This record gives sequence, C-alpha cells and structure tokens, in this order.
Amino acid sequence: MPAMLRESPYPMVSIAEATAMIMAHAQPLGSEEVDALTAIGRVLATDIRSPEDIPDVPKSAMDGYALRAGDGLTPRRVVGELTAGGTLTVALGPNEATRIMTGAPLPPGADAMIPVELTEEREGMLYLKRELKPGDYVHVVGQDIARDQLALTAGTTLGAAEIGILATLGITRISAYRRPRVAVLATGDEVVEPNEVRPGGAVRDSNRYALMAAICEAGGEPVSLGIARDDLEVQRQAILRGLEQADVLITSGGVSMGTRDLIKPLLAELGTVYFGRIAFKPGKPTTFATIAGKLVFGLPGFPVSSLVSFEVFVRPALRALQGDATPFRPRIEVVLADPIRPSPDRPEYQRIIVRYREGRMVATTTGSQSSSRLLSLRGANGLLLVPAGETIYPAGSVLPAILTGPLIGEG
Ligand code: AMP
Ligand code: MG
Repeated sequence: MPAMLRESPYPMVSIAEATAMIMAHAQPLGSEEVDALTAIGRVLATDIRSPEDIPDVPKSAMDGYALRAGDGLTPRRVVGELTAGGTLTVALGPNEATRIMTGAPLPPGADAMIPVELTEEREGMLYLKRELKPGDYVHVVGQDIARDQLALTAGTTLGAAEIGILATLGITRISAYRRPRVAVLATGDEVVEPNEVRPGGAVRDSNRYALMAAICEAGGEPVSLGIARDDLEVQRQAILRGLEQADVLITSGGVSMGTRDLIKPLLAELGTVYFGRIAFKPGKPTTFATIAGKLVFGLPGFPVSSLVSFEVFVRPALRALQGDATPFRPRIEVVLADPIRPSPDRPEYQRIIVRYREGRMVATTTGSQSSSRLLSLRGANGLLLVPAGETIYPAGSVLPAILTGPLIGEG
C-alpha cells in the first residue's frame, strides 16, 4: 500500500487569488452569427446601432383628431378618418380636422392631435374643450429610438426586452459569442447512475447532473463524460476524451488527500495546475489547471462543495468565456435573521435565502451547512460570506453576500 500524504503539496491560495488566476484564462471564445429573435440568453458580440428612426414618421399617440394647433378653439370641419396601417391620406387645410387612431401617421398640414375625450363631434363639426400647442399628443420621429443611436452594447445578455429591441429594428441576424462547451466527468468507485440499483454504501451521481444543470443556467452547453472509476488510466482517457470535445472540463471528486484521489496528479501530468487548495469552505481542494489552453476545474466530491465551488469559481469563467461584460454575481450586504457560526479556519460561503423586507435585505440560513447536505442549497438565492473566526454573529449582524438568484420580495 502506498503511504498517505499528511499535507497537501499545494499552497493555500485565497479566494481572490484563485479568482484572478481563473479569470486571467477566461477570454471570450469567439463569435458566430445566429438568429436574433430566438437568441434569448445569448451574449451580443457587437454593438447594435439603430439603422432607422422609430417611429419613422410623426404619429398620433392617442385616438382622437389631427388638426392645426394654430386654429385655436375654432370649430373644425371633420374631413376624414385615419387608422393605423390604413392607406388613406388627407391634407388638412385651415379649420379642418380628421379623425385619427393611435399609431396612424399624422396627415400633411396637421401639427397636433387632440384626444377624443377632450372633444365633441356634432354634424360633421369638431368642438375642442381646450387649446393645443404644436406637437401635442404627437409621437415624433425618432422619439423611441433615434437613427444611429446605440441601442444595445456588446457584452449584453439578451433578455425579452433586448429581443424586442432587435425585432423592432428589423435586425434578425446578430453576432453572438459562442457558448462554451463544458464536459463533466464524475469520478469514484462508489458512484453510480441515479437510475441504477444502488449497492449498499454507494452514492448516486448527483454532482454530474447538478453541474450540467448549472452549466446550462450559466449559458454553457454541457457534455456528459459519465462516471470514471478511481483508476489512473481510466480517468486519464476520460479527461482526454472530454478535452477533445469541449472548451472546458469539470471533474467531480478525487481531489482530496485519499490514496484514490487521482485528479490532481493527472492534471499536473497533462497540463499546468495553477492552484490545488483554496482557503474556502466548502471546497478547499478545488483545483484549477489548463491543458492545451483549455480550462479544467477539479471540483470536490461532496455535493455542496461541488456546486458552491462551481458557483463561485466556474460560473464567472463560463460567463467571461461567452463575452458577458459583467460575469460576476452582485455583491450585497444582508442583515442576519439567524445567528451564524463561522468556521474557525477558513472563510465560509454559507447558503442563505435573501428576502427584501421592510427596506432591508434579510438573510435566513438554510440550516445545517454540512457539505454533504444538498438541502442546504434548496431554495437558496445567496451565499453569505462569513469570515473565519470563533465568535458567533448574532441575529441583526450585517455581512456581505453574493446574490445567486432572484431576490425574494414582498409581492
Ligand atoms: P472524493 O472527493 O472523491 O473523496 O468524494 C467525497 C465524497 O463525495 C464521496 O465520499 C461521496 O460521498 C461524494 N461524492 C463523490 N462523487 C459524487 C458524485 N458524483 N455525486 C454525489 N456525491 C459524490
Ligand atoms: Mg472519490
């Protein structure tokens, strides 16, 4: 039997140092042309300037009558009716008005419109309840988006509003950053597929499925590499297979101090390991390497460690690889609803539920923070940054946190 190491040969790096090393290697992967109108979640690779004025002609902002403001309160002869999308045009002369519906182009001669509520129409004549100024209730050229205006900037993640802006401008193809392909390998002789019969003592592979879901949420394309036994050659082949197909490789398990923890030596053999230990809980043995320019993350086996390490270290890299101008989650300050016990030796990222309540961000713990307890992540929308120490933070203390999901509001 080989001897067991008593101390990791890897120096302990801080969370900030680890993040800096990772982000230095996370350059955008390049771009591709895609259909703009279905590009939800994609990151724009170019600025978008408006090719035209929206609206392109002056339009009526309401249902009512188009007229000349300068005619004052004089009753107007009603000479026609204009509808949005209609083809009729009438040129207005002095003391004339035309019915006009919302969105219809203002006719030549008219310089204002009056909403129907402020008028009466009797026997073909229009009576105004108030005087108008030129431009009243007119939707002017370029009012919504002006020609050449910067409508969207490179690095923006497209949501519903951005898709709407592209559609309104008639832009149906865009250049988007490529999504990273991310291969995920589970390791462990004790790890089985969730749909297999589980021998006593074995654990179902939750990490690979949770990580693939997290990769999708981060805008990546997951590639499953299955489960590798704790065998150097099996794991070496699986890693090489992953690197052939993907931009990024994530492994789960096998990075601790056990005699069957083979990932660190393999990554060192195949590429460059930048760090193998972080002063961070949960996830101290998280490892980062590059192999032939591709990013490789060795995440710990315990389910919470694996997913929290992904959130803190891998997700920002995946966002940066796809060109996101703001790859990090927002940092906020929260008020503790419960007392929080720190870890004596390492900064800890505890899972919390953050609610906006009476003007404050209030954090509730998800309960036991054991790194095998996936329920500590259930419903969590934040990670509380608890500095190392011995003293319990009482309820009411203020600590920094990372928002990892939508803030829960009061309604
Ligand atoms: P390791 O870091 O390989 O020593 O794994 C630590 C512990 O994490 C193991 O004892 C398992 O209980 C658990 N574990 C490892 N891999 C997985 C996985 N893919 N899914 C769920 N739990 C795992
Ligand atoms: Mg293992």
